[in-house]
Amino acid sequence: MANDRKPLISGNWKMNLNHFEAIQLIQKLGYAIDDDDHAACDVSVHPPFTDLRSLQTVLDADRIDIALGAQDCHWETSGAYTGEISPTMLAKLAVSYVIVGHSERRQLFGETDEDVNRKVKAVFKAGMTPIMACGETIEERDRNMAETVIENQILGGLARVPADQVGAMVIAYEPIWCIGTGVTASSADAQDMCAHVRSVVRTKFGDEAADAVRIQYGGSVKPGNAAELMSQPDIDGALVGGASLDADDFARIVQHRLL
Ligand code: PEP
Repeated sequence: MANDRKPLISGNWKMNLNHFEAIQLIQKLGYAIDDDDHAACDVSVHPPFTDLRSLQTVLDADRIDIALGAQDCHWETSGAYTGEISPTMLAKLAVSYVIVGHSERRQLFGETDEDVNRKVKAVFKAGMTPIMACGETIEERDRNMAETVIENQILGGLARVPADQVGAMVIAYEPIWCIGTGVTASSADAQDMCAHVRSVVRTKFGDEAADAVRIQYGGSVKPGNAAELMSQPDIDGALVGGASLDADDFARIVQHRLL
């Protein structure tokens, strides 16, 4: 069934590209992605923090319609949190989207659903949109626990978040066994899990939030599989890691409607 959710394609650059390299990539993307592409889908890039100010300047000066995103943030506004970056600092740099709860943050840095929940609320408080990531390991999938894991991550990450905010945010379903592995979930599996995400939102937050929330699929999205994944009714975009570091590949994913 058709819906009016505009797809969001997000590039997670992870810990790659210094600010000179980041400028080169964003300029290439500025040329490759045209007005028709922007009319068809929203696009965000999530560089390392050290690139944000340079990219903000280039996006502004060259009038490039790509939204600036961050990969993480702390939940406090300021204070004695050595090494952390606050949501208000990001908002000052015209950041629109912040990824929270990426599986690398959960697995490598011990981030919990409670941390993710604090971050979701803090991102909204600073006037930005969270992209909350969730996903199961291959062991959890093999033990038929994928749906329960996702439900717990969503309910924990969105505890006490108002339904209208849930409807305005983005949830990225990213099976961990597909991230950076070259393995992609089949479009049927990806659709099933994204439909499950939406049904968890529906049960907890109601129809309006469930029909409005944008759900991305992430995990080895490439130009060759983007169109099929994106044609699924509950998949409203993609969170792209490796392929977002190549301007041609990322632009072709953004242009999946033409593939
Ligand atoms: C990611 O890290 O969010 C991701 C989906 O990475 P990749 O596209 O490289 O699998």
